Amino acid sequence: MKKGKKLIFEMSRPGRTALDLPANDVACGPLDKLLPSRFIRKTPAELPEMSQPDLMRHYTGLSTRNFGVDSGFYPLGSCTMKYNPKVNEDVCRYPGLSQLHPLQDSGSVQGALKLLYEMEQYLAEISGMDAVTMQPVAGAHGELTGLKLIRAYHRSRGDNRTKVIVPDSAHGTNPATCTICGLEMFGIKSSEDGSINLDALRAAVGPDTAALMLTNPSTLGLFETNIREIAAIVHEAGGLLYYDGANANAIMGIVNPGDMGFDVAHLNLHKTFSTPHGGGGPGSGPIGVKKRLIPFLPVPVIDFDGEKYTLDENRPSSIGKVHAFYGNFGVIVRAYAYIRAMGPDGLRRVSEDAVLNANYCLSQLKDIYHAPFDRFCMHEFVLTSLKQKPYGIRTLDIAKRLLDYGYHPPTIYFPLIVEEAMMIEPTETESKETLDEFISVLRRIAGEAETDAALLKTAPNDTVVGRLDEVAAARKPIVKWTN
Ligand SMILES: *Cc1c(COP(=O)(O)O)cnc(C)c1O
Repeated sequence: MKKGKKLIFEMSRPGRTALDLPANDVACGPLDKLLPSRFIRKTPAELPEMSQPDLMRHYTGLSTRNFGVDSGFYPLGSCTMKYNPKVNEDVCRYPGLSQLHPLQDSGSVQGALKLLYEMEQYLAEISGMDAVTMQPVAGAHGELTGLKLIRAYHRSRGDNRTKVIVPDSAHGTNPATCTICGLEMFGIKSSEDGSINLDALRAAVGPDTAALMLTNPSTLGLFETNIREIAAIVHEAGGLLYYDGANANAIMGIVNPGDMGFDVAHLNLHKTFSTPHGGGGPGSGPIGVKKRLIPFLPVPVIDFDGEKYTLDENRPSSIGKVHAFYGNFGVIVRAYAYIRAMGPDGLRRVSEDAVLNANYCLSQLKDIYHAPFDRFCMHEFVLTSLKQKPYGIRTLDIAKRLLDYGYHPPTIYFPLIVEEAMMIEPTETESKETLDEFISVLRRIAGEAETDAALLKTAPNDTVVGRLDEVAAARKPIVKWTN
């Protein structure tokens, strides 16, 4: 660490406490009467001893060293780091929603079941699917659930197809999901313009094709205009289509994966539907399916007979459970609050503004940074540092320099098929002033690359932690505190 801050252990002073507990007024006996001796410490735990103000300052100080969408602009492509409205937080803390136990009898949690049921219906409408399960707790988890459904569907027809076609622009979770699911990943190369190469797809499909996994708009921020034809090619070969919905922020209320011909789609509530994410916190990756996949959905399924909501566990063709109980309820409540607050017109506006903001930024930057796909983009776009290469500058240097100006860098070196890529996703929640400032900083950095390259090579120069040796950090991480 550059700006010296002591470890909590270094600030510890014997005997200091942050809280005084009242004297014990119940009978208690020696510990070795309660626990086997092998579980009892021989020496006391080395815990820090601190006063309450010092403790408070320590953690409050640490919290300001982090970066979040509440502290600044966060244009991390593919991740949709939009601002999360605080009304979501209010709603999910209502006692009637926050103080439930998942083992409660369904008769006593009718309101919660109604909320889940309605959420399934909203997401079915948004995705153009016939039914939705809220169980998966991440996008990748939705992918895994979706491929399991697809496999169960093929098997139910006595068909053991295992090949899953994935374009080379795909997010890393797509091939990883195929492998985890025990299926075979078959990569196809994209065309020069970033779209699916129809000839490569035709050559790849066959009687062994289980599915095609695709996101549209693609990870290049481009809309796949041949999507109907792509769907027809895969369906004619007997395969199904899986939609990676991580880019749904570009299309809500305008077009949907169901109409594009997809059979399964996941949505990332923690991206598109404004629930907090980053740092591996709880997420939600519900999936929608077309009719023929409904029998295989995970249990329980929420049923409604017009009067009462119940949890149906008795579904003989179900793939089983993919998560305890019924997904990450608190996350679903936040996303529900968002959808209810926005309404159908509001969600459409979200996507229109997200696309507008991205195109605005692209138009203001493409003269100074190389834009490999110079056409209208969707909610995000790809630039590269190839114009800065003659000065010895790489994308990593630009990303690190952005930290000095108080911005979270965009996604870099992804998609893999673009050399020195930086993928920028401004989202709809940013004002024109924020976008203009960001554009001017990126233009300024391009200037620095020519005149002051050293500044970029050492960046970040103004953060708590300087430039790390990323290889050493990955290979020899120090995760243990030692004296
Ligand atoms: C984020 C993302 C995923 C995975 O979603 P997680 O919720 O992070 O598991 C999949 N595909 C794309 C294109 C993504 O951006």
